[in-house]
Amino acid sequence: MPENIAIDVRNASKCFGNLVAVNNLTFSVPESSCIGFLGPNGAGKSTMMHMVYGRCRREYRDDSSISVFGYDPVDDELAIKYLAGVVSQDNNLDTELNVTQNLMIYAKFYAIAPHEAKPRISRLLEFMELGEKHDARIRELSGGMQRRLVIVRALLNEPRLLILDEPTTGLDPQVRHAIWEKIRQLKKQGLTVLLTTHYMEEAFQIADNVVIMHKGERVLEGPPRDVVNEQIENYVLELLRSDALEKLKEKAQRKNIRNELSRDVSMFYAQSLEDLQQLTETLAPGDFILRHSNLEDVFLKATGRGLNEAQ
Ligand code: ADP
Repeated sequence: MPENIAIDVRNASKCFGNLVAVNNLTFSVPESSCIGFLGPNGAGKSTMMHMVYGRCRREYRDDSSISVFGYDPVDDELAIKYLAGVVSQDNNLDTELNVTQNLMIYAKFYAIAPHEAKPRISRLLEFMELGEKHDARIRELSGGMQRRLVIVRALLNEPRLLILDEPTTGLDPQVRHAIWEKIRQLKKQGLTVLLTTHYMEEAFQIADNVVIMHKGERVLEGPPRDVVNEQIENYVLELLRSDALEKLKEKAQRKNIRNELSRDVSMFYAQSLEDLQQLTETLAPGDFILRHSNLEDVFLKATGRGLNEAQ
């Protein structure tokens, strides 16, 4: 049976004056899956997401279209608001109110009757492991708890689509992993997820399909594991000692090992671990890191820049 397509985007572009923030992007998202837009600051991820939920209009063109569960965000912004939950970069929680009050205000906004809202809020707080925090003031919550509360708020109207704009930026790794686990569970329950992130690990952990963006363009697209397997050598040697570089470069050239520079760190890429191990023979253990390649390496290969480098 063919997959149900939740979001279908054809040739979407957005300009701000002379700046092309998103250039001719096409992608589709099956229901109950997660698409992740991965790229550095300024790549056009948020703009793409804003076009999907109607916060900004795509450029008008005959061959350009966006469908979100059958609705066009230009004509049916309100319908999309009702079927989507948005976790934007700012928490926008009312610090004067407690957890439940913050959520009840939102429930009112979505016209959810109090007798329905209350059990739903309890269930969602429990699900996001905030069950003890019903009456807590917002300022008593840690950064990770506030983020989880914003996710609860986005789930309040029982959305079919969850939009996550950099959901775990600034959180510590443990909290980040806990949030990723919840998002995976929500996906299993049938939610479609649209994610922007500049953390390759986040895309790897929760996206079924990743669109790697750079300067408004799609650089690569595919399941994260496939993208890594197909687009880059298996192993990387990061050289941490610059005075050893010239010698290593010579050795690498003889073995056809690719060399790239990222933020002053020289990287050597090879399909075989042994080839890289041979390069390290004259180095001390603290002079290098030898590891599997990842999405960050793919981005570097495709664009010549690191994901978190200034553009
Ligand atoms: P990302 O989410 O990948 O960080 P954005 O979509 O926020 O990227 O931005 C893409 C480009 O568009 C950037 O150069 C940004 O400065 C520009 N941009 C975004 N929103 C606006 C706006 N409202 N007005 C003018 N320029 C904007």
